[in-house]
Amino acid sequence: MSLQPATQDLELLQRRVSAVMAHMNPVVVELGDVFAAAGHQLAIVGGPVRDALLGRVSNDLDFTTSASPDETQALLDTWGDAVWDIGKEFGTIGAKRFVKDGEDIVVEITTYRTDEYDPTSRKPLVAFGDNIEGDLSRRDFTVNAMAIRVPELEFVDPFNGLADLAAGFLRTPIEAEKSFDDDPLRMMRAARFTAQLGFDIEESAFAAIVAMASRIAIVSGERVRDELNKLLLSGDPVRGLTALVDSGLADHVLPELPGMKAASDEHNRHKDVYSHSMTVLQQAIDLETGPEGAVPGPDLLLRLAALLHDIGKPATRKFESNGTVSFHHHELVGAKMTARRLRELKYDKDTVKAVSRLVELHLRFHGYGDGAWTDSAVRRYVTDAGPLLERLHRLTRADCTTRNKNKARRLGAAYDSLEVRISELAAQEELDAIRPDLDGEQIMEILGIKPGRAVGGAYKFLMELRLDEGSIGPEAARERLVAWWAEHSQDFEGTRTYEN
Ligand code: ATP
Ligand code: MG
Repeated sequence: MSLQPATQDLELLQRRVSAVMAHMNPVVVELGDVFAAAGHQLAIVGGPVRDALLGRVSNDLDFTTSASPDETQALLDTWGDAVWDIGKEFGTIGAKRFVKDGEDIVVEITTYRTDEYDPTSRKPLVAFGDNIEGDLSRRDFTVNAMAIRVPELEFVDPFNGLADLAAGFLRTPIEAEKSFDDDPLRMMRAARFTAQLGFDIEESAFAAIVAMASRIAIVSGERVRDELNKLLLSGDPVRGLTALVDSGLADHVLPELPGMKAASDEHNRHKDVYSHSMTVLQQAIDLETGPEGAVPGPDLLLRLAALLHDIGKPATRKFESNGTVSFHHHELVGAKMTARRLRELKYDKDTVKAVSRLVELHLRFHGYGDGAWTDSAVRRYVTDAGPLLERLHRLTRADCTTRNKNKARRLGAAYDSLEVRISELAAQEELDAIRPDLDGEQIMEILGIKPGRAVGGAYKFLMELRLDEGSIGPEAARERLVAWWAEHSQDFEGTRTYEN
């Protein structure tokens, strides 16, 4: 991509700025009036401005203001229907204004920042500033450093974010080294935005990340994880992961990923394990379903498992005497490595367990061959996968990146047949679980008979009834049983009743 902004797009974006301001929600302008009347400045800032210019509308709005957190809270009390102060320590007060379902407006208003950072600490020190330019200069990227003042409806863009938005560049408002030194998480955010927005990291910012990547180590695992999640759940995770690996950030946050570049796959051909994993990730994403389906996308567990399924390969690689390469038990080693890495990144227990389970199970299907599994092997597969079965189906299918079309078709067909067997077994087991509304004891009691052929006959009648009409309840079943017995008791001549 050229460094020249695409001017045509720039003109279009400039028109969009006017349009966004012309269509500003009156409730938001009203909020601006509240602040102006109190002698304060207020502006929409960051994500919502960027997204509005990209044509994405959001009802969650971030603002920046000259008012102190206490003053903001007092002003929001007069405007909002609910106000919260959990972010007050960092200068943020939140509020919600009820409009109608789906159109309620949520605002978060933060006092102008002039954050000072302690280069040895994980947390920014909070200090409040008095002008919007200072606040914007401390933001991560120029495309996130644009604001719209309300009620004036004035566009504020001191760092030419609009031109970078048009060109698709992530550029820091101040010198990149200084910015990343202030908060190294911004380097992760750069990778995340490449994935979310499809943008490129501008050259000098990218060089700064390469030079400073190891500084990410001072950032808490939780903050890194949250950015990684946003990256993975974006429209193009492969792009974001590529940025992480190419910049060297991955060496510090997910070293197993670049680690896979070293190990070649079992065919020892063009594809290394790393690019295979990226392809599997993309194929798994393509197998996610809509909101009503079995695995609604974007699905974090499936995506993490697809990315990490082969991380055990480098450690288990062995050159066999016959000239081939093997990776024995890489799924078990990989499951352990996955758990360790995800714990390090502060993922919750359930996520760690689920993803490492999928990694552990990703090869099991390869024992299926051309359908050689017994029913019990199929049942065990289903039981071992438990609630992850639908994801395991997709992970296994995605884990086929051969260029050999026949081989791919064979594997796909074998998996189809496994899924058919799983549903046949499930259907059979559902049938097996069906019972008549009355059991043998109840039959004997109602008909006053002892164990024998007639109990079996009655049971069979009730079972037919159950299959034909579904469950009708014990009372109705008793009446039908008595009626049936009146007609059929003679068929069971010699049946002993309790009376005789
Ligand atoms: P999204 O909410 O979709 O994740 P966003 O751009 O709104 O994207 P947030 O993390 O919500 O991102 O942050 C809101 C704004 O705050 C950003 O647009 C950016 O201007 C600023 N910002 C957030 N985190 C940082 C940071 N670590 N350093 C500098 N500025 C930041
Ligand atoms: Mg946001």
